[in-house]
Amino acid sequence: MTEQLKHYIGGQYVAGTSGRFSPVYNPSTGEHKAEVPLASESEIGDAVADSLAAFPGWASTSPITRARVMFKFKQLVEENIEELAALLASEHGKVHSDAKGSIIRGIEVVEFACGIPHLLKGEYSDNVSTGVDMYSMRKPLGVVAGITPFNFPAMVPMWMFAVAIACGNCFVLKPSEKDPSLPIKLGELMVAAGAPPGVLNVINGDKVAVDALLDDPRVKAVSFVGSTPIAKYVYARGTANGKRVQAMGGAKNHMLVMPDADMDKAVDALIGAGYGSAGERCMAISVAVAVGGAGDELMEKLAPRVRALKVGPSAADADMGPLVTAEHLAKVRGYVDLGIEEGADLVVDGRDISLQGYENGYYMGGCLFDNVGTDMRIYKEEIFGPVLSVVRAPTFNEAIDMVDKHEFGNGTSIFTQNGDIARAFSDNVEVGMVGVNVPIPVPLAFHSFGGWKASAFGDHNQHGPEGVRFYTKVKTVTSRWPNSIKAGAEFSIPTFK
Ligand code: NAD
Repeated sequence: MTEQLKHYIGGQYVAGTSGRFSPVYNPSTGEHKAEVPLASESEIGDAVADSLAAFPGWASTSPITRARVMFKFKQLVEENIEELAALLASEHGKVHSDAKGSIIRGIEVVEFACGIPHLLKGEYSDNVSTGVDMYSMRKPLGVVAGITPFNFPAMVPMWMFAVAIACGNCFVLKPSEKDPSLPIKLGELMVAAGAPPGVLNVINGDKVAVDALLDDPRVKAVSFVGSTPIAKYVYARGTANGKRVQAMGGAKNHMLVMPDADMDKAVDALIGAGYGSAGERCMAISVAVAVGGAGDELMEKLAPRVRALKVGPSAADADMGPLVTAEHLAKVRGYVDLGIEEGADLVVDGRDISLQGYENGYYMGGCLFDNVGTDMRIYKEEIFGPVLSVVRAPTFNEAIDMVDKHEFGNGTSIFTQNGDIARAFSDNVEVGMVGVNVPIPVPLAFHSFGGWKASAFGDHNQHGPEGVRFYTKVKTVTSRWPNSIKAGAEFSIPTFK
């Protein structure tokens, strides 16, 4: 019988009551693995109420106590990482090593959050005026919510809740309905680590749940990661309701290959960054810009590597696994058909592959287009699959101009041996995260993650110091004691002396 998943609220697994469910598949086999309940507005209300009840107690624990919970949570995730990675892969389709790596990138944010006593240190000015001291502190917001995408079901939730909870907030997580089992499990591990029930509630759902979180006045901030149309919507609705919102959206990441680049290393980088995780990464390189005369050599070296990519079920630990759902596979294949219609050259065609024993899985081989034009939809739109487009640009200026004009501005990189060109690129390009001879420049946990243009809405980025700012508000106290209080009322604005 198909497993029926639950929510994790108040330290317990709770069955859904809305009567609505969404199917969860194993992309490696096509098996209908589970049904996930989709929460109603009132179920969201109950989850928020439960978190709100936990908030005063959690907010008043010392930061070092909260850090100790984070240390324990890290330990529990590490102790269970093999099973967690297998669970993640069974619903997402990532190969095991990649699934494990993505959990480790989440753990790194938990490690950052273990430093919360230091991160929450305020500022103190002694004697700002005679006998008057001034200090500021960072206070948690209350109940905050996270809405996360299918492609990183462990890492992206941990980006958010590790920082939010360490800051003293209570967190309601609404994970993707496509691969919810791992995030639900993280709720259980957080309570096992010593967080009081309600500090991390995990509730499943779709638009109904998201809207309920965006409209609930008890939810003070919402962090969203997903596609750009939904990010825009979440940002608009959440801010209209007076909430703090950070909403990360989609991407189209360019890698410039300069004529002086070490072509073998550039090709290695493109293969990993374009096809790792079947291209289902918001920082995947989906456009290679061959600058000057770099195009022919690049294609000569790239095409055989794309043809040789090993595609397999997640347990086989191939180069890449299947796509997440049959629907997403059809969409990505549709983009490859479109590219041919638009006149790009499909040099490697991975559309039709079948794996013996896994005929019902959602597999697709690597696809490689050459001579892609900037007016084509396959260039402009996010495909989110194992499809790499090569665009040729005569000069560096034309290449950087192309990146700047693109709607998205999440990540970009340049491969070159010329320091001046690399510096000009990283200094000027209109993109939030830049790599120099690094294809996927994802900032580590103690820096902050976020793109520009249509790749992010809101002021603060994910994790790092920006995360701490997003999940806290500043209070500044000015104080003096009786001996320094002067007699008499002051009617004009006080200036300190
Ligand atoms: P998605 O936008 O379909 O879903 C994201 C979340 O929004 C899910 O929890 C989903 O349930 C919810 N949702 C879906 N439709 C909704 C609606 N109509 N109203 C309200 N909520 C809705 O994204 P996805 O397919 O799960 O993830 C892939 C996308 O996420 C890609 O575009 C990728 O680039 C992006 N992404 C961005 C980043 C980043 O940091 N910029 C990181 C990872 C993924």
